[in-house]
Amino acid sequence: MSNGHTSQVDTLIAGAGFAGLSLAIALRQTLGASFTVAVADPALERAGGDPRASAIVAAARRLFETIGVWERIAPGAQPILDMVVTDSRLDDAMRPTFLTFDGDVEPGEPFAHMIENGPLLAALLAKAKEDGVALTTTAVADSAVAADRINVRLQDGTTCDARLLVAADGARSSIRERAGIATHGWQYGQSSIATTVRHERDHNGRAEEHFLPAGPFAILPLKRDATGHRSSIVWTEEATEAAR
Ligand SMILES: Cc1cc2nc3c(=O)[nH]c(=O)nc-3n(C[C@H](O)[C@H](O)[C@H](O)COP(=O)(O)OP(=O)(O)OC[C@H]3O[C@@H](n4cnc5c(N)ncnc54)[C@H](O)[C@@H]3O)c2cc1C
Repeated sequence: MSNGHTSQVDTLIAGAGFAGLSLAIALRQTLGASFTVAVADPALERAGGDPRASAIVAAARRLFETIGVWERIAPGAQPILDMVVTDSRLDDAMRPTFLTFDGDVEPGEPFAHMIENGPLLAALLAKAKEDGVALTTTAVADSAVAADRINVRLQDGTTCDARLLVAADGARSSIRERAGIATHGWQYGQSSIATTVRHERDHNGRAEEHFLPAGPFAILPLKRDATGHRSSIVWTEEATEAAR
């Protein structure tokens, strides 16, 4: 996609997050080499730098397996073997268990794994390149629907004619908004602090989520590395308190 040039592609995907890259790989693998897929995202420049972690549920893990990505990240993925959810106040003497998930979805198959976003995105990106997905480091600026194509204007000044434009541009999708697809949402007045902590004792694959008055507090097990035992924390607070 060079300046002043209009490229032709079967599918243009806006957004190189988990959704956009997974779809690009799956389309190439399913529809064959003659089906052209491009992914446009200014964040492609900084892929691999996200230090947050995600719980990947069994259904998502099966998808990553099917498209040949899971085997690359499995060594760094921590199975969640046990999950405890409580609903209480900070000063409650007891924190009774509200809900538990333990065991497997199928024998030997944990219901979720924890994995850091950086390695997962890097594996998706490497697989997309191998499978012939065209990657372009720019944003979708605008689009206009023609008879059997969509004409897409990119931020770098180039244009692209696609048979399909996929809006995988995240929760606040501007492409969805421009297409007039309505959403219904509201503010919780909460912010989350997401970080990684190290601890002395083994977590034994146990995840905990406490529903506290200001919002949920989750501690989620990560794979042990050379520095020792680690967990990911998502600590939700009232927004001004989180900023403090
Ligand atoms: C604190 C937190 C914890 C979470 N924990 C989990 C979890 O444990 N498990 C889980 O499954 N999910 C979790 N999620 C949700 C998960 O992160 C999202 O569902 C997921 O990232 C959505 O992926 P996506 O590819 O749709 O969008 P995103 O990851 O948001 O990617 C969108 C991409 O689109 C690009 N983009 C934006 N505009 C344009 C444009 N105009 N043109 C081109 N590109 C554009 C952006 O640069 C971005 O790279 C969590 C979310 C948060 C905030």
